[in-house]
Amino acid sequence: MSKKISTGPIQQLQAAVGPEGWSCDAEELAPLLLDQRGNFQGATPILLRPACTEEVAKVLSICHQAHIAVVPQGGNTSLVGGSVPDEAGDQILLSLSRMDRIRALSTADFTLTAEAGCILATLQDAAEAENLLFPLSLAAEGSCQIGGNLSTNAGGTAVLRYGNARDLVLGLEVVFANGEIWHGLRALRKDNAGYDLKQLFLGSEGTLGIITAAVLKLFPRPNHTETALVVVPDAEAAMALLQACRAEVGEAVTRFEYMDRSSMELVLRQMPDIRNPFAEVHDHYVLLDLASSHGGEALAHSLETLLQERLEQGQVLDAVIAQSGRQAKDLWRIREGIPEAQRKDGAGLKQDVSVPLSRLPEFLQRARQLVSEAFPEALIVAFGHLGDGNLHFNLNQPQGMDAESFRARGPEIHRLVYDLAVEMEGSFAAEHGVGRLKREELRRYRPAVEVELMAKLKQTLDPRGILNPGKVV
Ligand code: FAD
Ligand code: ZN
Repeated sequence: MSKKISTGPIQQLQAAVGPEGWSCDAEELAPLLLDQRGNFQGATPILLRPACTEEVAKVLSICHQAHIAVVPQGGNTSLVGGSVPDEAGDQILLSLSRMDRIRALSTADFTLTAEAGCILATLQDAAEAENLLFPLSLAAEGSCQIGGNLSTNAGGTAVLRYGNARDLVLGLEVVFANGEIWHGLRALRKDNAGYDLKQLFLGSEGTLGIITAAVLKLFPRPNHTETALVVVPDAEAAMALLQACRAEVGEAVTRFEYMDRSSMELVLRQMPDIRNPFAEVHDHYVLLDLASSHGGEALAHSLETLLQERLEQGQVLDAVIAQSGRQAKDLWRIREGIPEAQRKDGAGLKQDVSVPLSRLPEFLQRARQLVSEAFPEALIVAFGHLGDGNLHFNLNQPQGMDAESFRARGPEIHRLVYDLAVEMEGSFAAEHGVGRLKREELRRYRPAVEVELMAKLKQTLDPRGILNPGKVV
């Protein structure tokens, strides 16, 4: 146990959550103290696992009084080191995992009220059981929790149609730093009574309050989906395809992802059960979903016609349209397998950036050029959410270079890519947040007036600085 926290508050915390609600077992704690990318190995005097909102409130009240730092954790899938305590060993780890009840699902209101610790896939299934849709979808959905999704304003593959996590929330229940509970679980589609306070907590990465429950929006479930993997000559053609699809079938365009040649090669090399649907490997791919609740045949016809026309114009080089749900899943496994394939292939340098849609092809071309001039041996792996202007512009360890020398190039490469994104009116942190990893970048790339306002909000909501210190601001 940490020497810096006296036994008094620790005993109070143990009493607040009861015997089931805490652990100091090194083995149990170990996986919760290492971040997803293995960059940060933290330490903590105790893991707390409260069972209800009132227990979270008691914990925060004790920590506030005793000036003890608290790091909230969901599924610990953060890619920016946001969900683990630092190395000093005096920050409490607060897991929301026991708060995993679905409190209500209303088909009349199209809402689902869930506690923070609910696994994302469980919520998707609950909506599906009522023939409705909770559209947030990302590769970590089997282990990430809705509290973590909302605290990071997670994106994923359906943002194009349904928005980021923050767009899927009607109301929140939050415990403030001093232990006060805000009962904001409203289910209103329209509510302009003053500031929209819930937005402060969405995407704030556990630095302004602890989200304990949320009212989430549900949608009609499309009963027909067309999935196609399309080979295009370049990124311009990919963007033109997006425009053509939207002009033809409007909001039915649900997912629109990009993969480059090395993304496909990596997946084929590292994941032997994944098959290349084409005879050879190409330079640029689009993986798209069109989904609709009616007119399935018309949708299929529109897609075929559109691809055929563009094939004749040389704007599409080849395409496969999934003929079954199984085939669609297989195509999506290629896209979803990229991060794992990258991990298996060696060390990576990862950039998660966005630019306005219209500038994405130019960004890709310029970023490629800059990075290959600076680091010609490295393997560029570019993929991502083209329909949102968000790219994962990554580099993988070249053969013959050790991981440590490769990683040492990180700061220089990140600077090149972030400078370019920001120069092109984009963001250095499009999807995964700031966490511990990008604090310096926040100061560098955002105007002082924005950073100062963030610091003032933090000071107002968490005057003693106990909520996830060392993250974001
Ligand atoms: P954690 O990692 O536990 O926590 C994330 C942050 O939120 C931390 O700062 C933590 O302190 C804070 N936090 C957690 N719970 C609460 C709470 N209840 N109240 C307040 N603060 C809290 N992200 C995307 O946006 N899009 C993707 O497509 C995507 N794909 C991914 C794929 C894989 C394979 C992996 C490993 C990660 C991916 N991520 C993606 C990143 C990550 O999964 C998401 O950001 C996810 O939303 C985090 O949820 P979590 O429950 O794991 O949160
Ligand atoms: Zn992503």
